Amino acid sequence: MSARRDPAPVAIVGGGLAGLTAAHALRHHGIPFRLFEASDRLAGLARSFRDADGFSHDFGAHFVTNRLAAALGMGAECRTVHHYGEVVRLDGEDIGYPLGLLGVPRFDVSAAWTRLRDAVASSPAPGDAAAWFRHNYGEALADEVALPLLEAWSGQPADRLAPAVGEKLPGGLLETLWLKLAGRLTDRAVAIGYCGALPQSASVWHVYPEHGVGSICARLAEGLDDAVSLGTRVQRIHVEGDRAVSVRVNDQDLPVSAVISTAPIHILPRLVEGTDALERFARFRFRPMILANLNLEGRHLLSDTVVWLPEKDFASYRVTEAPISMPWLAPEGKTTLTVDIGCEVGDDWWKASDDDIARHCLEDIAPLVPDAAARHLGHRVLRTPIGYPVFMRAYEADRLRLALDGTGVDNLLSVGRNGAFDHLLMEDVYCRTLAQVQPLIDDLLPAVRAA
Ligand SMILES: Cc1cc2nc3c(=O)[nH]c(=O)nc-3n(C[C@H](O)[C@H](O)[C@H](O)COP(=O)(O)OP(=O)(O)OC[C@H]3O[C@@H](n4cnc5c(N)ncnc54)[C@H](O)[C@@H]3O)c2cc1C
Repeated sequence: MSARRDPAPVAIVGGGLAGLTAAHALRHHGIPFRLFEASDRLAGLARSFRDADGFSHDFGAHFVTNRLAAALGMGAECRTVHHYGEVVRLDGEDIGYPLGLLGVPRFDVSAAWTRLRDAVASSPAPGDAAAWFRHNYGEALADEVALPLLEAWSGQPADRLAPAVGEKLPGGLLETLWLKLAGRLTDRAVAIGYCGALPQSASVWHVYPEHGVGSICARLAEGLDDAVSLGTRVQRIHVEGDRAVSVRVNDQDLPVSAVISTAPIHILPRLVEGTDALERFARFRFRPMILANLNLEGRHLLSDTVVWLPEKDFASYRVTEAPISMPWLAPEGKTTLTVDIGCEVGDDWWKASDDDIARHCLEDIAPLVPDAAARHLGHRVLRTPIGYPVFMRAYEADRLRLALDGTGVDNLLSVGRNGAFDHLLMEDVYCRTLAQVQPLIDDLLPAVRAA
């Protein structure tokens, strides 16, 4: 009788939400895997920090949905967020988004005129993000608000960006208005534009896990210790023919049946050996970000949770006072403002010390909070070289190809926010990763059952 051999494990590259979601699904089906995380802890971008003096900061993610929490059996461990609001600062005034902007006559007139003009001239479909926003929002709103924000956020002129940047914005205006109203009626911060994989509705709202967003990853990681290696970078992925056959970790080659990578897509070509199928992804760009969390005396220093800053006088494009929505993130009578700065690795912002960044940010927000410097209690400055995927026109065709056809190597999946190169929030990362991993599971199950 011939002895059956256990199939080689699946290698998972990265222990953020996507890698852990994949690991959880494989374990559920009894498929062997090894998860390698380069850093010394799990959760990736979904990490939470708590200072000794009672301030909580999340790396990026602040809000998750009650639907994601329920899917992970964490509903009871989450607090409901009752309010979430955004305003746009223009000429020293905070205008509510989106309703307030609709009430600005020059934006309405410009939008109506642009629509009429484009209809009469039967203009072609917009070929870049600048044209997309002017066509859809009208020139005044596009030029004064949408395009300056887009350029500060992406670091690129809007006419070099693909129209898909605009197409990714959440549903229609009527739907947004209905969801806002539903939130008021139910006293819950209904989630708008948080998940593309599942429908938005009045029964999907923002929640916050008791122990920070990082606890979502901790829940997924429960019981997986035996297959998780921290502080272990995947150095190479070897491809033979059109299949990944092994990965190199700790200078050793490990045979694998498949690879699920959550590494940033532009880095993946440098890891893969044996094919140049992924070379086209090497030029994809991510916008690095600095998130300066300023702890301040006082509460409700901004007029709403998020203030967008399209005017060029500001170095930042967005300031968030998360404790307006989630009072528990700061001690009573105190607050945290998160100032987002788009930058490039190695530029003056990137190289500045944390104290200098905090000082510049306090000066930057002085028009919003005039005595911010006097209120300053401390800060935590976070930097990431991979804050946001930037959809450049130059590689739009390759981006669409990645979304439709994958990596070009049959058993090498590239998933998660940075692996899929998409603006995915946590619920989307979870849903899409499950959907992408399922065909691989179906493929591997017969061999696992036979072993
Ligand atoms: C500024 C900001 C704000 C956000 N706000 C929200 C929000 O309010 N709500 C929300 O739902 N989402 C939000 N998000 C998105 C959310 O944080 C991400 O969607 C999610 O955390 C991405 O998880 P991931 O596993 O795809 O990627 P990551 O978290 O980046 O995980 C990838 C992991 O792979 C590891 N890795 C990379 N290369 C290797 C290698 N070669 N070997 C081993 N390990 C490797 C990395 O160390 C990392 O831990 C925000 C994101 C940002 C940047």
